[in-house]
Parts: sequence; C-alpha cells; structure tokens
Amino acid sequence: MKMVNVYNTRTRSKEEFVPIEGNNVRMYVCGPTVYDYPHIGNARSFAVFDTIRRYLEYKGYRVVYITNFTDIDDKMINRSKEDGIEVSELAAKFITEYLTIAKQLNLIPATINPRATEHMDDIIEMVELIIKNGYGYDVDGDVYFNVPSFETYGGLSRIPMDDLSSRARVEVDEKKKDPRDFILWKAEKPGEPSWESPWGKGRPGWHAECSVMGKHYLGFPFDIHGGGQDLIFPHHENEIAQSAAAYGIETPVKYWLHNGFLTIDSDKMSKSEKNFSTAREVLDNYDHQAVRLYLVTGQYRQPLDYNDKAMKQAIQSLERIKNAADTIRGRISILEKIGSRESDADRKLAEASKKAREDFEKEMDDDFNTPGALAEIFTLVREINTLTKDVGGAAVLREALAVMIELVGILGVNLADEAQTGEGAGQAAKALKGIVDFLLELREGARKSKDFAKADQIRDRLGELGIEIADTKDGPTWKMS
Ligand code: AMP
Ligand code: ZN
Repeated sequence: MKMVNVYNTRTRSKEEFVPIEGNNVRMYVCGPTVYDYPHIGNARSFAVFDTIRRYLEYKGYRVVYITNFTDIDDKMINRSKEDGIEVSELAAKFITEYLTIAKQLNLIPATINPRATEHMDDIIEMVELIIKNGYGYDVDGDVYFNVPSFETYGGLSRIPMDDLSSRARVEVDEKKKDPRDFILWKAEKPGEPSWESPWGKGRPGWHAECSVMGKHYLGFPFDIHGGGQDLIFPHHENEIAQSAAAYGIETPVKYWLHNGFLTIDSDKMSKSEKNFSTAREVLDNYDHQAVRLYLVTGQYRQPLDYNDKAMKQAIQSLERIKNAADTIRGRISILEKIGSRESDADRKLAEASKKAREDFEKEMDDDFNTPGALAEIFTLVREINTLTKDVGGAAVLREALAVMIELVGILGVNLADEAQTGEGAGQAAKALKGIVDFLLELREGARKSKDFAKADQIRDRLGELGIEIADTKDGPTWKMS
C-alpha cells in the first residue's frame, strides 16, 4: 500500500502519513460557530476534510472523526441578544442547519459532534492545570494564559514573538500581564450565560474548547487536526500552548492540516467582509452534487474562487460523469439482450479502469491533490465514451462503472444510488429531466404571455410531485425536494 504524503503546517513540508497507532486515525476538525448560516467558504472546509477522511478510509485506515460545534462565544451571545432568543435556542437552530447542509453535501456524519457547553467540567479542569503549572493567572474572575512563559509559543504560525507584541498592543487590556496573553476563562457579564468555576461564574475562551474536546475524545497526541488557514493563528497556536501547558505533553497533534480560503474576486469570503453567499443559497440554486464537486475542484491548500463559471464547470463535469455511467448501463442492458463477443475494446477498457485507479491514488497520495485525481477520472470517462460501444463483456463494463463510482465517491459524489436502482434508472432520470425541463419551458412561455395562473399551476403541480423550482438570474432551476 503506497503511503499518503500530507503537508504538515507545523513542519511546512510534506511528510509520509504514519498514524500514531497502527491502522487507526484520530482526526479532529474545527467545526462551525453555530450563530448564523454557514457561508460556502465554511462549506469548503467541511467538504475538504470529508474527502480527506474518505480517502484515508479508502486506503484502509479506521478513522475516528470529531468535529465540534462552538455553541458559546461572543458571536453567539451578540446574535442571541439581537434576535431576542436564548443562546441555546440559537445554537439548536444552526446545528440543525449545519446537519442539513452536511447531508446535502454528502458529508459522512462525524463520529461525534461535541459541543463546548457539554464540556465545562473538562474546560475548568484544564484551566486549573494551566494555572497550577505556572502558565496562567486569574485577575478578578478573568483567567489568562501567559504567553511569554510558554517558550515554544509561535511554533505553528511561525510569527516572531516581537511581531506578536505589536499586534497585541492594538487591543490593550489593562488586566493582562503581557499584551500577548490570551483569555482562557471570562468572568460573567450580566445577562450572559455562565457556569460556576473556581474563579467565579463565567464562560470559556474560544480556544479552550478544542483543546479539551480533542483530548477528551481522541487523547493526546492524536493524528490529524484540521481547519481553515485562518485558524493557524491564534486558534491553533493557542490550542498547542494550552494542551502542552496543562498536560505536560510535547505536542498534542502529529499532523496539522489547513485548507485554503474560498475567495470572491481574490478576497477571502467572510461574514465580516459581507462578501459571502450562504451554503443554503448556493445549495438551493444548484444541484447538491455539483456543489460538492465544485468544493473539491481545487487542491485543498490553494485558494478556490467562487463564481458562476466555476459552478457551471462543476455542473458540466458532473453531467459528463453521469453520462458516462449511463453509457455503460445502456450497453450492459443491450448486451444482456443480444449478447456479444469480447473484442480489443474489452482489454483496453479493463486496462483504463486499472490505470484510472492507480493514477487517482497517485494524485491523492500527494497531499490529496483532488484536481489531479479528477483529471484521472475524466481520462477514464473519455475511454468509456470511446470504447463502450465496442465492449462485449458485461463484467468489464461493470468493473469500469464500479471504479468510477468508487473514485467519484471519494470526492463526495454519490453515483451509487442511481446504479443500485437498476439499468433503466439512468434512462428514467434522463427522461424525467427532459420532461421537467419541457414543463419549465412551457411555464416560461406562460409567464412571457402573462398567463400567470398557468405558470403557477405548473409550479404548484411540480411542487406536489416533490419537484421544487427556483427562479434564478440565469433562469429557472429545479431539484427534487
Ligand atoms: P467558523 O464557523 O467561522 O469557525 O468556520 C468554520 C470553518 O470554516 C473553519 O475551519 C474556518 O477556518 C473555515 N473557513 C472560514 N472562512 C473560510 C473561507 N473563506 N474559505 C475556506 N474555509 C473557511
Ligand atoms: Zn477549534
């Protein structure tokens, strides 16, 4: 089994991936702060780490996958005040939203989705240890981590201590011993959720939860810690400092993996820049599988731009893959009726399937190079399109189809459901698409001639059949609800 090479942010180099414990991979990915609808940039992070997990499982590893919900922090509190609801109610709403998106993006459910508020005892215990070991201090109920006391601070982000000082001075906090110190526990403010602690009532700082939940579910050190590049500093830098200071370990994590940003016009998509599309909007407008495919069309560490052209390309790519699958299924049903003799095409297609798998693995072994891996799938698609009509053996066709299904499955595209519903399924899906597109044309015609009753009737009747129509600036789109 060829090794996977992963780029480790900690060493800034590609390393052979060797799990700490045999065949078991323990993986923690920073999850969403559940105060609002995630944007499609957040969804990139979710999809990227799901593909990494899928590939590791494909390689034969047993993966325990933890991703948390940050359900208490400043953003949660501010939004709950704005909306006039409890923080817990806000969290429940956006956890449900996350789980819906996760399903639509075909993410494998996490082994566990722990929440910060479920781990207060562990968090308090860690903060106590940090103080006891001389790395933390309490000022009137606020507890800080003393950065200069932790010698290797900055090891992950490689930001020199002096730069840290000038950054930190921007937001002066009189209570801190050093401007670089960060908060571990915040004293209660009136009207905010709080928990009893040795320092009085309060709540944890954001970084504390991931250290604690990583340790609780995976134990230190664990294999992979993931998140977006914006988390390298300060979030992950602080996680390392906390975990090492509290538990006396050298490092809590073997491989640090960080995804690049989803951008719009080269700017990072973010809530604060207000340049975002929510995952919900995007999933409502486009085929879910095409969205998933789009999110892994770039190598995960590189920026990925979000625009109509990129989405259209993903739609076309998906269509080409599905058409190739239909071509194979069509040929298999013909062979079942008429039978045929094997020819040179059989040997060529068998060879192409084998090579596609090998070349796909080569790309994925190289730090999960999904664009390269996708290119290998398209090499197989081209061979399928050229050879299938001349292939005489159904087994060769089934193998090519199985390889394609398995490889696109690692990217998160699920062609298997269609395959399981039998050979006619591809044709039936094509016919359904043709019929719905035709009805939408009729509806557009009705709207143009101002026959709105007819237009609404078409939309409503399709709605009753579970076909949802959305009017976008590029015209109507539809999906099965
Ligand atoms: P948050 O809910 O802000 O904590 O973000 C959830 C995940 O999305 C984190 O891993 C972030 O690093 C990641 N993330 C945030 N913005 C982007 C972006 N524009 N592109 C890719 N990942 C992002
Ligand atoms: Zn985290």
